[in-house]
Amino acid sequence: MGSMEMASTFMRRLEGKVALITGAASGIGESTARLFAKHGAKVMIADIQDDLGNKVCQDLGQSSVSFVHCDVTKESDIETAVNTVVAKYGKLDIMHNNAGIGGIANPNILENEKSEFEKIINVNLLGPFLGAKHAARVMIPKRGGTIITTASTCSIMGGGSSHAYTSSKHGVLGLTRNIAVELGKYGIRVNCVSPYLVATPLAKDFFKLDDEGCHGAYSNLKGVVLKPEDVAEAALFLASDESKYVSGHNLLVDGGFTIVNPMFCMFE
Ligand code: NAD
Repeated sequence: MGSMEMASTFMRRLEGKVALITGAASGIGESTARLFAKHGAKVMIADIQDDLGNKVCQDLGQSSVSFVHCDVTKESDIETAVNTVVAKYGKLDIMHNNAGIGGIANPNILENEKSEFEKIINVNLLGPFLGAKHAARVMIPKRGGTIITTASTCSIMGGGSSHAYTSSKHGVLGLTRNIAVELGKYGIRVNCVSPYLVATPLAKDFFKLDDEGCHGAYSNLKGVVLKPEDVAEAALFLASDESKYVSGHNLLVDGGFTIVNPMFCMFE
């Protein structure tokens, strides 16, 4: 093997791995699917947007990336998605619970409807629970695997989103920690990746911002804009063996947003 080939093999950090990514027809999930495939993984995209999901597959080549229709709030859909990935690629190494919705940005609890709260919790919290459950079903017998959930800076702070969204993201962090404790004995790692504001359809709809508005509106770190690709890089770390001793972790990709209160800060 020549040195160039050795280098490219070395740089393919998910060679031989199989990943299932929910919500990968768009935004952060799509970027993650592209990056995982670039690093040698077989990837199955699970989403409710069939046309967009199939388009990503066409872009990337059908042999390494495929699509399954899956509504993460339906246990039978998740069960089918996990079974489909195992039937097609032989196993499941990486489960990325990424699908999520922003919902309505109304901070007034008196105007918050129970149905809206349930809708957000169903996609953002019940979805990752079902994803982890069915991933564990096939990972436990193999004694290994990694489960990643896309949480948010809203997993550790209040005031950044609606009551439902913040609750759902705090919930997935608790879920991640609990499942990490249970599944550690099987060699399965369970982590979250928690982005700050990224200009995806979800964030633009929720905050009524365009790309420009999303870029660094309240961020602490200047001179750089958070892109879906940056979140994908963090997920890649959690998916790869480079994080082989990282479990129960919440990897914030927030440029230091959550460590400072700008109302009381001595630095200009
Ligand atoms: P996005 O809207 O671009 O992508 C979300 C994807 O999830 C879409 O493809 C959508 O079809 C899919 N989806 C929605 N409901 C689903 C369901 N019931 N079943 C299956 N798929 C479903 O948004 P995004 O910003 O890429 O969001 C991805 C994740 O990142 C979400 O969990 C979101 O909460 C989280 N997040 C986003 C931001 C941000 O600023 N964009 C910040 C922090 C966390």
